[in-house]
Amino acid sequence: RAKSDESGVAHLYNAEMDAAMQARNALEMDLRQALSAGQFELFYQPQVEVRARWIAGCEALLRWRHPEKGLVPPDQFIPLAEDMGMIVPIGEWVLRQACATAAADWPENVRVAVNLSAVQFRCHDIIDVVSGALRDSGLEAGRLELEITETVMLQDAAMALATLHQLRELGVQVSMDDFGTGYSSLSYLRRFPFDRIKIDQSFIRDLGKQDDCISIVRAVIALGRDLGMAITAEGVETRQQLDMLENAGCTEVQGYLFNRPVSAAAATALLQSASIIANGWPYLGHRLS
Ligand code: C2E
Ligand code: MG
Ligand code: MG
Ligand code: MG
Repeated sequence: RAKSDESGVAHLYNAEMDAAMQARNALEMDLRQALSAGQFELFYQPQVEVRARWIAGCEALLRWRHPEKGLVPPDQFIPLAEDMGMIVPIGEWVLRQACATAAADWPENVRVAVNLSAVQFRCHDIIDVVSGALRDSGLEAGRLELEITETVMLQDAAMALATLHQLRELGVQVSMDDFGTGYSSLSYLRRFPFDRIKIDQSFIRDLGKQDDCISIVRAVIALGRDLGMAITAEGVETRQQLDMLENAGCTEVQGYLFNRPVSAAAATALLQSASIIANGWPYLGHRLS
């Protein structure tokens, strides 16, 4: 890549920056053909309903099985894929794959949650992409949940609001992911029609260690209740955190205490289990009808 920007100004690079740039370029080349080479896989992590004690849904989490590097986590390639625009076809693949798996292999009342990148959300044809994935998989719209972060509201709030309403008209559920890490979370909640708030794992991590965390969690849960939104806590790792969340009235929990993200086959097996025990806390793989 040329070491000058568009204005033709040359920049000085030291060896370290050069190496980082080369690594990025190599990764970019690999990423460009990863989709057609079939190197992406979805893992799934259960979301457990606290009261009923069953798996209400699973979140699809993207993994890249790189031929030399092995399993690459999303934080290491999604920002790059967003810069390259590759996130749009990759994201559509994720959506189609997740809908197809849930429709074909899971109990009928289990949701699938899919993360949407802000870049993908802002695409003019996002509504067609989502409805196409639903139609082709046969998944009932109410079983699809789209997780978006506050960053989608930052650029063009009016457009984001219109898109959110159109998604809700399709019948899909929309959650605000990583809640509490962005800018004007509270004002967004008032204006945007979310079905669910996912409290960011940074607040859950310090539950029981820092007193202010439980105050924040309680406040978000109360807010969700008043606004008619369900609350999921992400990153639940300990029994103490779970007990605090249960006492505070949190709707759903997700985290290593229950399950790490697992392969599609393992997720299907979990959903078929009659009973699973996480640190003395029993829950069901499926809803008993
Ligand atoms: P996220 O949507 O907030 O997903 C939760 C992340 O927390 C996942 O990381 C999950 O594996 C991890 N996690 C779950 N439980 C625990 C726990 O108890 N402790 C800890 N320490 N971590 C836990 P992962 O899979 O590496 O994904 C990271 C981020 O990458 C996601 O954050 C999401 O923003 C993004 N991502 C993943 N898949 C996709 C995708 O298909 N499309 C897009 N656009 N973004 C994705
Ligand atoms: Mg998410
Ligand atoms: Mg999150
Ligand atoms: Mg995140």
